[in-house]
Amino acid sequence: MPKDFLKGVAEEYDVVVIGSGLGGLTAANVLAREGRSVLLLEQHYKLGGLATWFKRPGGHIFDISLHGFPHGMLKSCRRYWTQEIADSIVQLKHVRFDNPMFSLTTTFDRKDFTRLLSTDFGLEESRVQEFFDTARSMNFYDDQAMTTGQLFDKFFPGREDVVRLLMEPITYANGSTLEDPAITYGIVFSNFMSKGVFTFQGGTDHLVKSMEREMIRNGVDIRIRSNAEKINIENGAIKSIQVNGREIRTKTIVSNANLRSTLFDLVGEDYLDGKFVEEAREVRLNNSSTQVYMALKEGETVDRDTGDLLFCSTAELFRTNLLLSKDVSSRTFSFYYPDIRPQGKNRYLIVSSTNANYEDWAGVDKEQYEADKQHLIEDTLNSLEKYVPNCREKIDHVEAATPITFEHYTKHKLGSSFGTKFEGLGVSRALPDQVKGLYHAGSVGIIMSGWLGTINYGVIVANDVDSYLMKSESTPLASS
Ligand SMILES: Cc1cc2nc3c(=O)[nH]c(=O)nc-3n(C[C@H](O)[C@H](O)[C@H](O)COP(=O)(O)OP(=O)(O)OC[C@H]3O[C@@H](n4cnc5c(N)ncnc54)[C@H](O)[C@@H]3O)c2cc1C
Repeated sequence: MPKDFLKGVAEEYDVVVIGSGLGGLTAANVLAREGRSVLLLEQHYKLGGLATWFKRPGGHIFDISLHGFPHGMLKSCRRYWTQEIADSIVQLKHVRFDNPMFSLTTTFDRKDFTRLLSTDFGLEESRVQEFFDTARSMNFYDDQAMTTGQLFDKFFPGREDVVRLLMEPITYANGSTLEDPAITYGIVFSNFMSKGVFTFQGGTDHLVKSMEREMIRNGVDIRIRSNAEKINIENGAIKSIQVNGREIRTKTIVSNANLRSTLFDLVGEDYLDGKFVEEAREVRLNNSSTQVYMALKEGETVDRDTGDLLFCSTAELFRTNLLLSKDVSSRTFSFYYPDIRPQGKNRYLIVSSTNANYEDWAGVDKEQYEADKQHLIEDTLNSLEKYVPNCREKIDHVEAATPITFEHYTKHKLGSSFGTKFEGLGVSRALPDQVKGLYHAGSVGIIMSGWLGTINYGVIVANDVDSYLMKSESTPLASS
């Protein structure tokens, strides 16, 4: 008999959360802390979604998406998770750039960027300060007509080198381009510039296990290998969820699954109004990624000066489409030194990440797919050689992941690494107007993606759900 992963599940919950990405985990935790009965469903065998890790023989533990996040994570983790989680957040102090236009190392904060821009790049300091102030003052309700490209043109016309320094890490951090609304750049850039780039000491496994313990303490009923198949709606309101062939009643659902999967697979167009469906169809998915995971042999080391994060490129000019090309010229190396995982086995790991298009990897036969992966690995090792001499001899294990891998493990359409483009946010927020009790909290709109964005979005949505439940308790059921 196959194992019943829903054994002992209750017949009804106040809230069902579909998906255990950072947004889903946070929404579940906040709602359980408010005293709500919460069922968390995850189709995979592990919690975390894209915030995940995997182990390989030799004591190697690879993080998938733990490359860097803004300082704001500290406050969010302290408030909505635990002090212990917040205390494990540490700064990455060596962020390096190496491309045909410039090579430099920075702490990646406003002070150091101001120094670099005014000395190395020769800009007027007052202009730089004005740019920072403008970026920092941007918010969601601003005019969204200006693009990031236009913002740069306004402040630094003709300075491709400056644009590269300011934009390359953000494109990597959330897939945004020069054509996206300037606020998607301004908000994320300012978040990083406030204090620099941070990581989680202990690794993703440590973080997600700490989160799991906290959710159990707060009473969340956590179910892995539980695939939400259908959201059942009656009279325009949530009635139940169908999971692993079983129906469980609930008044509210928070979907942390991809926005488009939520709308078109779990709900279905028949329950949504025509204009909303049209808008939802227009929502573009964000791009995907490829990664190459490399572990050094026991006893082999990497010099600390190599950096924590290294944005390297051989492209003469910065072009966002070049960052997506299968013919890779730009990649970001994350170096994981043993102190990042103090409980680990003293290993050095390196992960190379590149933004990628799903179409470049889908539709090729298995043989070609494997050959393409091997090519990606070889190319990456060639590039790494410059920063870690003789790296091929030092490496114990190497493997690659592609957009197909990300799609397989998270069910994200097109293997999207950052959910949807900006227009997804409005659609995600409007969902409860379409179906009472239905909410979405997952990577959308560039701002609400990445580790910090999704955690904060989980909190916002949890508060909406709590208010809805309070209202439905004080008045006859919202579904009537
Ligand atoms: C290669 C890579 C590198 C990245 N690097 C960084 C970084 O350095 N810094 C940063 O801040 N961000 C980074 N990100 C982005 C960040 O990881 C994501 O934005 C964030 O983790 C997404 O969280 P989420 O809440 O949207 O959920 P996701 O992580 O997308 O999880 C969704 C969950 O829903 C589950 N699910 C889907 N459908 C169902 C269903 N029907 N039933 C049950 N469960 C379901 C999935 O299995 C998954 O667990 C990176 C992403 C990638 C891919």
